[in-house]
Amino acid sequence: MYDYDLLVVGSANADLVIGVERRPGAGETVLGSDLAVHPGGKGANQAVAAARLGARTALLARVGDDEHGRLLLDSLRAAGADTVGVLVGGAPTGVALITVDPSGDNSIVVSPGANGRLAPADVRAAASLFHASRVVSTQLEIPLETVVEVVRSLAPDSRFVLNPSPPRPLPSEVLAACDPLIVNEHEAKVILGDSAGVSDEPEDWARLLLAKGPRSVVVTLGGEGALVASSAGVTRVPSVKVEAVDTTGAGDAFTAALAWRLGTGEPLDEAAAYAARVGAATVTKEGAQVSFPTAAEVAEL
Ligand code: ATP
Repeated sequence: MYDYDLLVVGSANADLVIGVERRPGAGETVLGSDLAVHPGGKGANQAVAAARLGARTALLARVGDDEHGRLLLDSLRAAGADTVGVLVGGAPTGVALITVDPSGDNSIVVSPGANGRLAPADVRAAASLFHASRVVSTQLEIPLETVVEVVRSLAPDSRFVLNPSPPRPLPSEVLAACDPLIVNEHEAKVILGDSAGVSDEPEDWARLLLAKGPRSVVVTLGGEGALVASSAGVTRVPSVKVEAVDTTGAGDAFTAALAWRLGTGEPLDEAAAYAARVGAATVTKEGAQVSFPTAAEVAEL
């Protein structure tokens, strides 16, 4: 019996957002709106999304001993996620400085801060969390050597889900553990490198990615839904038609929902279909964590 349906290992950031008429060029200063501070980072987002759906969720992450760290801990607890694995101190909480212009285009500078200090030793020290978790998911906003240690720390019958964002080439040890590897178009192309150029068809990327070693692959296609690829072949997961207001966080909500449903024993295509409903519900609301749905809201969709 597992204590957690899902252990997320990953980043926690404060998103500092300022609206501007025009994003500044080099050497330029512009005035903007009041500052808005939101809890974010792919790890914290996934943990909040899963917990809000009702999954028993824990997060292994690192934040600073500061106001932003407390904001993140509060939002995780409010969603019902277990913060026993959130380490405090070592560096300031990670921050994303975001300026958004009236057309919605943004410029972002990320200071990884404490996320960059989440070390392989922190993973080893959290062995009890790994043994208590049916599914473990992570992303790439923490050091790659920490992700490698996550793969080495998996309990024998647990399942590993990776969204390689921001994307970079991955060691074969990590690729081989993914079940599934979840990518959008951009991430697929970075991981495939030169071989991505051979086709414009997402089905082909899914097959090429699968040939790199993961046990399964999911390619998310925004409003077009997703593709699922495994040794059984490639299948399409239809999107749910909704009025999209803000797509921020859709990928995180999709990944969290899929990881949770796999842990309940659902087959990959059914878990992906549920995750597509969660992604669709997320895009109907502004913001990231505040837009993640409950299971009841997904059922109503
Ligand atoms: P992001 O980086 O913006 O969080 P992403 O690029 O990783 O997202 P997407 O493919 O945009 O991920 O979205 C994840 C899933 O959410 C999609 O596979 C789809 O199921 C759902 N989704 C996203 N956008 C829409 C939309 N406009 N309408 C319906 N469903 C959507």
